Amino acid sequence: MKIETKLLHAGIEPDEATGAIMTPIYQTSTYVQSEVGVNKGYEYSRTLNPTRHALEKNLAAIENGNYGMCFGSGMAAIDAILKLLNPGDEVVSTNDLYGGAYRIFTTVFAKYGIVFKFVDMTELSKVEEVITEKTKLIWVETPTNPMMSIIDIAGITKIKKQAYLAVDNTFATPFLQTPLDFGADIVMHSATKFLGGHSDVVMGALVVKEENLATELYKIQNSCGAIPGPQDCFLVLRGIKTLHLRVERHSFNAEKIVVFLINHPKVDKVYWPGLSTHQNHEIAKKQMKGYGGMVSFSLKQDTVEAAHHILKNTKLFALAESLGGVESLIGHPATMTHASIPREIRVKSGVVDSLIRLSVGVENIDDLISDLRYALS
Ligand SMILES: *Cc1c(COP(=O)(O)O)cnc(C)c1O
Repeated sequence: MKIETKLLHAGIEPDEATGAIMTPIYQTSTYVQSEVGVNKGYEYSRTLNPTRHALEKNLAAIENGNYGMCFGSGMAAIDAILKLLNPGDEVVSTNDLYGGAYRIFTTVFAKYGIVFKFVDMTELSKVEEVITEKTKLIWVETPTNPMMSIIDIAGITKIKKQAYLAVDNTFATPFLQTPLDFGADIVMHSATKFLGGHSDVVMGALVVKEENLATELYKIQNSCGAIPGPQDCFLVLRGIKTLHLRVERHSFNAEKIVVFLINHPKVDKVYWPGLSTHQNHEIAKKQMKGYGGMVSFSLKQDTVEAAHHILKNTKLFALAESLGGVESLIGHPATMTHASIPREIRVKSGVVDSLIRLSVGVENIDDLISDLRYALS
């Protein structure tokens, strides 16, 4: 099946008991056994629940993997990956990444003796320089947040040695990019974003191909217990059915907005991997099927105040954290998502004071451009 069909059908069967075409919300913690040890595949809902099971099978299929697992949030999914490691193990990560990932690395897992190294992963030679025999995990986010840099997944596969390569695929979605096909070992999602797609659920997910790795991760999922409830799984199953339609429109609208921004006299730089002038455009073209709805831009007047003024004056673009929902959002990394990163480090990675990040929604494009034109004026 092609991705558009898999999104709707993979892993999903009509309900055996009733024929319900939509996977029921199995709001139950436990399952009656006919005798000790004899059950219908479900024993206790932390271990497995039928609604979550359908979603896990669907996620595995749409990422071209074999095993899917869902977590209570994207952070809980990252947490599960890090629990594969032992004290003394090293992790190599991109220096331009989701603030929450940076925080769990440096303030939680660093305490347990795991060593984190941050490099500019758009240059493979820099990654290669810091990989040692102790490197057990390479953490890639592509496109990165909020600079939209693109990291060459296949290139990292060639130099990763014994380390697991994990890719945060939240921004791209499996409709635009399937990292397992380029040799990644683990794909991670904040399903809160494009997979759910409607800003009504918080969830995380992992997909892997390899059985032993899946067994380890299922063990961590069941032992640590950071699982989502069945109602949230239902919402994400429903969201995924329209992922292709939404992402196509997100990308279409983003491209028009990028053209508008490039030609606006107050705008300095525009970051979107679909631009032929984007520094990693060639790699984006190679590993992505489209360029998505995330756009960042800076202002010629590079101040926090100038950016805040624009944020205050949009009406359709809602000022909020998060991304990937059907509605357009606007945010200011320097004072919102990336506020915990020291200014010098932040500016060096491109997150200047005036940088604004858009999650372009699926509204009418003329309305969205009018909204930005007004705010910029
Ligand atoms: C939101 C996000 C996360 C964290 O996911 P939550 O569901 O908020 O816990 C991780 N990575 C990226 C790229 C994100 O955008």
